[in-house]
Amino acid sequence: MAGIVGILAFDQVWNVSKFLYYSLVGLQHRGYATSGVALLDGKIREKINDVPPEDLEVDIGGWAGLGYAGTRRGYPVVTDDAALVIDGVIKVDLNEFSKRLVTDPESAILSAKGAFSLIALTRDGNLIAYRDETGLRPLALGGFGFDMGIIASEPVAMWVIGGEFRREVKPGEMILMSRLNVSTKQLREPRKAYCSIEYVYQARIDSYVNESEVYQVRVRIGELLAEERPLEADVVIGVPDTALPFALGYSRRLNIPLELGFTRTGSPIRTMLASDDFLKIVGVQLKLNPVRGAVHSKRVVLIDDSMVTGTTLKNTIASLRRLGAKEVHVLIGSPKLVSPCPYGVEVPEEKELIAANLREEEIAKVLGADSIHWLSLEGLRRALTSSSLCMGCMTRSYPKVIQ
Ligand code: SF4
Repeated sequence: MAGIVGILAFDQVWNVSKFLYYSLVGLQHRGYATSGVALLDGKIREKINDVPPEDLEVDIGGWAGLGYAGTRRGYPVVTDDAALVIDGVIKVDLNEFSKRLVTDPESAILSAKGAFSLIALTRDGNLIAYRDETGLRPLALGGFGFDMGIIASEPVAMWVIGGEFRREVKPGEMILMSRLNVSTKQLREPRKAYCSIEYVYQARIDSYVNESEVYQVRVRIGELLAEERPLEADVVIGVPDTALPFALGYSRRLNIPLELGFTRTGSPIRTMLASDDFLKIVGVQLKLNPVRGAVHSKRVVLIDDSMVTGTTLKNTIASLRRLGAKEVHVLIGSPKLVSPCPYGVEVPEEKELIAANLREEEIAKVLGADSIHWLSLEGLRRALTSSSLCMGCMTRSYPKVIQ
């Protein structure tokens, strides 16, 4: 899972390094274990480090560049012919691929297999992007006035630098961007299978992905949770930031007050993606400190976006109880995760997924919750406007991807 971005200035007087850096910071919710940029200024130079994008020292310049924030080391990949960033899974020899991209981008892309979004910057200064025909990984097209073209995983990468989002790249569509021209070509017929997890927790609240406003989808999920599991409670709290709109939707539908149940005491760390167990536990405290005044002596509905191993939630519930919550009922804004993701999203093996291994009452007991409920598969389908979805990690039934 990754956030990728490519920026090309239409005039070589520009130095896009700062634009690239801040765009990348805007994408670090998609992965922060490692990050990198490659910039073109006569030649391509790269800067890659195992740090979150905000800690990446970008001391190189150029009028075009690529950025990567994610979990896979070594991106951008720089070959003799181009630099490349990829979100997803691609099966191709990248050296050979980048050579062909320069001479014949269409046939190069058609030879690549997998489920991916890709942005390449050739040494002669062209940006080439492609979103595979399933659209499993998002990709958006935008710009900065008449000065720059931008392609990125999510429009937030454009908005944070004052740029404009024009539209999403269609599944199966290739974008070719040079200093003089932007052209597009539909290389394969779309066979849409948008990743459901993007809506539930991967994309930012303020983003637009897969034909939907993420915020609206999440509020709707909260309303549907209220229909599926109306609880008698004193307060509703959502785990920031992802689950806040779920909590808002739930609270409005049942007229239960929404409280700000948590405050941050450090930089936001996506604990589910944390690389070691210690960071996962410490990350919970860094990320969230419960607010006593919001939960003391109350029957609390706690809403989170997903549950993987349950470790994070267990710690959160224990903190709420320490602060005097009378009851803690857990609602999860996604269906149960029961199977891994073969397309690059960090959903672990089945044996690590608590919902794949224990019954609901057992999970509630392990977590120390009074009750627990997951959004149903039907509920998720109702919340989403598109019917062309991948729900593989929830159903064990995966879309067909070119192998
Ligand atoms: S398997 Fe799950 S995480 Fe992977 S693409 Fe499908 S919905 Fe997304």
